[in-house]
Amino acid sequence: MAKYAMLRDALVAQLPDIQLLQAPRATDAELLRVHTPDYVRGIADGSVPAAVLREIGFPWSEAMAERARRSVGATVAAARSALRQGIGANLAGGTHHAYADKGGGFCVFNDVAVAARTLQAQRQREGGALQVAVIDLDVHQGNGTARIFQGDASVFTLSLHGEKNFPFRKEAGDLDVGLPDGTGDADYLAALDGALRALEARCAPQLAFYLAGADPFEGDRLGRLKLSYAGMQARDQRVLDWCLARRIPLVLLMAGGYGVQIEETVRVQLNTYQSAFAHWQQWQEGKSVGI
Ligand SMILES: [Zn+2]
Repeated sequence: MAKYAMLRDALVAQLPDIQLLQAPRATDAELLRVHTPDYVRGIADGSVPAAVLREIGFPWSEAMAERARRSVGATVAAARSALRQGIGANLAGGTHHAYADKGGGFCVFNDVAVAARTLQAQRQREGGALQVAVIDLDVHQGNGTARIFQGDASVFTLSLHGEKNFPFRKEAGDLDVGLPDGTGDADYLAALDGALRALEARCAPQLAFYLAGADPFEGDRLGRLKLSYAGMQARDQRVLDWCLARRIPLVLLMAGGYGVQIEETVRVQLNTYQSAFAHWQQWQEGKSVGI
C-alpha cells in the first residue's frame, strides 16, 4: 500500500506542473452500471460474504469501502479529463480482477468497466456512441474486465499477460496474448506491437484505457517476466505513441506492481507518469508521431 503515497510524493516533487485533484466518490448509479445490487450493498455495509473478502485479499472496513469507491470515481474523472484534453490519469485503479458480482486479487470494483459504461451512457444521451478499447498490460490477465465485456462489441478488451501467472482460470477477452515466464524486452515489445496491430484491425476506439501495471518489471515479486527499466519505458511509449498518432484520448491507470524493492516499483510508475506528462504536452501542441 505504501507505493501509492510514495508515487504521489514523487510526482509532486518531480512534475510540479501536473494538476492533482482529489478523487470523487463513484455513485451507486455508476457502480450499478456494472456491479450487482447485492455486491454494491455488501461492500457498502460490510455484509459481503467472507469467502468473497478472502478472494479480494483485504479485510472489510469503512475505509476500505470508501477507498474502493473513490478509486472508481478517480477513473471516471480521469476518463472525462481524457476526453477533454487527450489524457487523464488515476494514481490507483486498474482493478481488473473484479467481476460484476465479486472482487478478487486486490480488486474490489472494476473501475475501467464502470468508467467505460458511464461515459458511453453519457455519449448516448448526447445522441452518439463511444467505442472503447482496454489495453491491459498488467502482467496478470484482466479476467474480470474480459468477462464483463464478453458479447459487448462496444468495448474491445486486449490483455497481454503471463500465461502461467494468476489468475489461473483465465476468461476469454477479445484479444489475449499469453507470454511465457522469463519473457524479456525484445520478445515482449514484439508481442505488444503485434497486439496493437491486431487491435487496430478489429476496432477503431474513441477512448482507450491503459492499465500500466509495473509488474512485468524484472524486479517484481509476482510478475515472472524480465523487462528492464528501458523495456518498461519502451512499452509505455508504444502505447502513448499509438494513441497520439490516432488522436485517441487515453486514460492511464496504475494497476499492479509488487517490487522486491518497493522503490523500484515506484520508479517504474514514476517513469510512466513522466512519459504521460510529455504525451499530454504533445497532445496540446497538436503534435502527432509518424507510425
Ligand atoms: Zn498485476
